[in-house]
Amino acid sequence: MAGRDPAGVVLTAVSKTQPDAAIEAALAAGQRVFGENRVQEAQTRWAVRRAAFPDLELRLIGPLQTNKAADAVALFEVIETLDRPKLAEALAAAAEKMGRSPRVLIQVNTGAEPQKAGVLPQDLPDLVGQARGLGLRLEGLMCIPPVDEAAGPHFALLRKLARRHGLEVLSMGMSGDYETAIRFGATHVRVGSALFGERNAPAAPFRG
Ligand SMILES: *Cc1c(COP(=O)(O)O)cnc(C)c1O
Repeated sequence: MAGRDPAGVVLTAVSKTQPDAAIEAALAAGQRVFGENRVQEAQTRWAVRRAAFPDLELRLIGPLQTNKAADAVALFEVIETLDRPKLAEALAAAAEKMGRSPRVLIQVNTGAEPQKAGVLPQDLPDLVGQARGLGLRLEGLMCIPPVDEAAGPHFALLRKLARRHGLEVLSMGMSGDYETAIRFGATHVRVGSALFGERNAPAAPFRG
């Protein structure tokens, strides 16, 4: 994979909207890292399964409302979508109350798209400082490049920002661009359709 040790890149299987059979097949094939973009859907899918898989790692990759912060802290090992001060406060409060502190990534809106979640690059330093000050376990950055632009420059920017702040984890790259992302230093790629087949389509055989 792009000249890097594939073992150095974690595959997050994006299981959102996939049928149970696809999830079961992935688990049977040994997949343990899963990405979900809705708290409630993830609760329904994983609450019953997680007891059987102690090494499961659930990663929230979709936008998080402040009023769902406690539910997210209770369920996920990693929250990839911190993007504003109010949410940082809500996560820290929930973590303290529950005695459970998920690892956290900050989502950066590298394309400065008005409709997209993520902190703007110029606001990142303040959010990093705040998250650290609150005691959140901040470990990296995440981005979703604009669909109509080459992804490479966005991945390069994310890597530069992460280095500047001493952050090691880079969650970037989806089905269409994960090879590019790995070339630019992704530590985690979030792959859905390339793994499971198109969403909402009949379950495709798992090709791990
Ligand atoms: C759905 C989703 C993915 C996976 O997308 P595919 O193109 O199916 O690989 C990755 N990241 C995020 C944030 C997503 O919402």
